Amino acid sequence: MGTMVQLNEAGLFKSQGLIGDKWVDAENGHTLPVNNPATGEILTSVPFMGKREAEKAIAAASQAFTSWSKRTANDRSKILRQWFNLLIKNKDDLGKLIVLEQGKPLAEAVGEIVYGAAFVEYYAEEAKRVYGDIIPSPFPEKRMLVMKQPVGVVAAIAPWNFPLAMITRKVAPALAAGCTVVIKPSELTPLTALAAAELALQAGIPPGVVNVVMGDAKGIGDAMLDSTEVRKITFTGSTGVGKMLLAGAGKTVKKVSLELGGNAPCIVFDDANLDVAVKGVLAGKYRNSGQTCVCINKIFVQDGIYDKFAEAFAKAVSGLRAGNGLEPGITQGPLINETALEKVERHVQDAVSKGAKVLVGGKRHSLGRTFYEPTILGNASDEMLIFREEVFGPVAPLVRFNTDEEAIKLANNSEFGLAAYAFTENITRGWRVAESLEFGMVGLNEGLISTEVAPFGGMKQSGLGREGSKYGLDEYLEMKYVCLGNMAQPVG
Ligand code: ADP
Repeated sequence: MGTMVQLNEAGLFKSQGLIGDKWVDAENGHTLPVNNPATGEILTSVPFMGKREAEKAIAAASQAFTSWSKRTANDRSKILRQWFNLLIKNKDDLGKLIVLEQGKPLAEAVGEIVYGAAFVEYYAEEAKRVYGDIIPSPFPEKRMLVMKQPVGVVAAIAPWNFPLAMITRKVAPALAAGCTVVIKPSELTPLTALAAAELALQAGIPPGVVNVVMGDAKGIGDAMLDSTEVRKITFTGSTGVGKMLLAGAGKTVKKVSLELGGNAPCIVFDDANLDVAVKGVLAGKYRNSGQTCVCINKIFVQDGIYDKFAEAFAKAVSGLRAGNGLEPGITQGPLINETALEKVERHVQDAVSKGAKVLVGGKRHSLGRTFYEPTILGNASDEMLIFREEVFGPVAPLVRFNTDEEAIKLANNSEFGLAAYAFTENITRGWRVAESLEFGMVGLNEGLISTEVAPFGGMKQSGLGREGSKYGLDEYLEMKYVCLGNMAQPVG
């Protein structure tokens, strides 16, 4: 364990992969350093695994599927509940791991553990509610029914921005349905995933039901795509990789769920409650330093409220404090790496060169490294790069608009369709706008919409399928129609 990592439960600091019942290194001994983005220090190194290790993990998951899928739903539910209890019991350690490898402030990190664990609790409950159907038969001698069965081995590929929640959101419904999983966390944030896997074993999840491999993302991804045993790929990450996985899954016709880019618009109407709008946009924009796929990325503000909103928003943003997430009072952590920082810089420079005005921030933070000042750009327009590409950083561009139609057109003018937001006190307008937005999720007078009980997912090139809620379970289930023939007519 690196000197800077002090956990209450030292056993949660894992730096090997998990295949079946064994914590293992890469077969060739290669490793990969894990960085603290706030300090640049190396926390530890993890195995740089590839195709071979992924194949072994798939074999372990396939073997475990035989018995796990046959356990009663009640059994699986109890074990998932125990995993939830352990995640919550260890939330401070897990939160600390997130701060160390990902950078978000501690309170936000612990919040992610509670949010991530909630998927495990929710699907522990839903495990018991996988009902089938009896279909009224049009033939007197036939009976018809539908049963739901687990799809099989699931490959779950996760990003770095929510090191726990993006994993539990996939693994909990998969396990509840009776599937087994091979997890590939992001190479940037594997430690939280490994700690969660250790807790899964402690909770009594049988060996092989949960496996974790990381290293050569493409090699591991290819092994998952090529395997006929993997029946489902669930992915959260960039649109580019998502498209490649979707195409690759065609080779063996797997089920696919994708949560891809978002680039969310937000519309602030003249009749918005100013305090509610400022608070909502602040939370929806700057959470995780702007590094979430539902982060507000372009803010359309109606002419009549533009100046008031810009002033109040600037005041609120000036109150944000950047720094190492383990220090008290910090609200903005670093960006994940240099590449992310350079993208933010490129977007701001491009916007300024096309006429945007820096209202707050606009440059690298004096803390250095990968810190960027929370930024607001005024007079932004849809010709700027920031409108087409996800900034994934703490930059809020404001665009002035006049009519509702104009705002909806601007908001829908995107290849993405994940989340959108609107602020208005007029229920008719709010309803109409929610209906018109081509997005999978709409926050009305609310900047934080994610929860385990609601379906999370996008339209257009933002993805396929939904995670969370009762619908999230269907992604891991096959529907089987059974027809009973040669049955007698009902008696009487
Ligand atoms: P981001 O830009 O947010 O890091 P990515 O799509 O690159 O998004 O990464 C999301 C996840 O996809 C990570 O776990 C990453 O390692 C994985 N990944 C990247 N390339 C591939 C690939 N070719 N096959 C499978 N997984 C991949």
